[in-house]
Amino acid sequence: MVGMPRSPRVAAPEASDAPGGPLVDRFGRVHRDLRISLTDRCSLRCTYCMPEQGNELLARVSILDLDEIERVAQVAAAAGITTFRLTGGEPLLRRDIVEVVRRLASIAGSDGPVQVVMTTNGIRLPEVLPDLVSAGLRRLNISIDTLRRDRFAALTRRDRLDDVLAGIAAAAASGLAPLKLNAVAMRDVNDDELVDLVEFAVAHSAQMRFIEQMPLDAGHTWDRQRMVTRDEILAALSKRWALEPVPGRGGAPAERWRLDGGPHTVGVIASVTAPFCGDCDRLRLTADGQLRNCLFSTSEFDLVPVLRGGGDTSDIDELLRSCVARKLPGHAIDDPGFLQPARGMNAIGG
Ligand code: SAM
Ligand code: SF4
Repeated sequence: MVGMPRSPRVAAPEASDAPGGPLVDRFGRVHRDLRISLTDRCSLRCTYCMPEQGNELLARVSILDLDEIERVAQVAAAAGITTFRLTGGEPLLRRDIVEVVRRLASIAGSDGPVQVVMTTNGIRLPEVLPDLVSAGLRRLNISIDTLRRDRFAALTRRDRLDDVLAGIAAAAASGLAPLKLNAVAMRDVNDDELVDLVEFAVAHSAQMRFIEQMPLDAGHTWDRQRMVTRDEILAALSKRWALEPVPGRGGAPAERWRLDGGPHTVGVIASVTAPFCGDCDRLRLTADGQLRNCLFSTSEFDLVPVLRGGGDTSDIDELLRSCVARKLPGHAIDDPGFLQPARGMNAIGG
C-alpha cells in the first residue's frame, strides 16, 4: 500500500514553489525536519545498510564542508525547518562534529531556535558527548540491534558491542532526553531478543524503537516475505507486557505503546507495512550535497553547483522549494514497479 497523505494542514497545496513561507508540498505537508548526512563512512558494516566490501565511498572532495552545511541549514531554518537531525554513515566520524553541532545550534529559525539532534551507532560517544552537549546537541538516537556479542559481530561485521554499550551508558548519564534506542528487527537474527532489548532500554531510562527493515541495503538483498512486520513485533512484546497505544503521534515515524500502563514506552517504525508518508515532514541532505524529498527517491536536487558556483541564498531556497514541490504522496515499496534507490542507507542518511 502506498502511504497517502492523511491530514493536509493547509488549504493551498501548491504554495511550495514560491519564495518565502514554509516548505509545503502539493499534498499540504509542511516540512519541519531536515536530516543532514555528514558522511557516508562508518565504523560498522551493518548487513542491512552497507556491504562488507565493494562499497564505493564518496570522494572526500565531494563531501560538504562545515560552511556549506551551515549555508544550507540557515536557508532551511528561514523556511521553517525546526529540527536538524545529524546522521550518516556515522556522524561521529566527522572530525569537526562538535563545530557542526555548535554552528547549527546557533541558527535562529523563523519559529525560534532550531533543535540539533543526532542518530549514531554510539561508538566514540563517551569521548565527545560532553563537548556535543556544550555545543548545543539536544537529543540522541542510538542504534543497537542485539545485546549478544557474537551476533553483534556477525551483524555489523565488527566486534564492537562494548563500544556501543559504553556510548549508550554515556548518553543515559548525560541527561539528554528522551534517549531513544533503535533496532532493525530481523528474522532469525534478533527477533528472539525483542523483549530483552526493551528491558535493556528501560534499565537505561530509554525508549526502545523497532524498525521494519526497508529495501535500502547496498547489497539489494531485502525480501518482503522475510522481513519482520509491525504486527509480529507487537505480538512478541504482548506476551510480556500489556501494550496501550500512546495517542498524539503527529508526524513522528514511530507509533508508541505504554508498557503495562507506563511510564515506559516502546515504539515501532513500520515504514513498510503501515507507512506514515501522509504525515511526513522530512527532507534529506546527503553528505555530497544532494537534496532528497524521500528515503526512497530515485531523483535528487543538486546543491553543489549552487554552493560551489557562486549561488546565493535565494538559489538555495529555490532548490529546497523545487525539491519539496516534487515530493510524491508515498514511497510505493509495495508497488510492483518499486525501484530501490541506487544509494544504500549509509549514503542517503537514515
Ligand atoms: N550510523 C548511525 C546509526 O546506525 O544510527 C546513523 C546512520 S543509520 C543509516 C540510521 C538508522 O538507519 C539506524 O537506526 C539504522 O538502523 C537504520 N537503517 C539502516 N539501514 C536500514 C534498513 N535497510 N532498514 C531500516 N532501517 C535501516
Ligand atoms: Fe553504519 Fe549506521 Fe549503516 Fe550500521 S546502520 S552500517 S552503523 S550507517
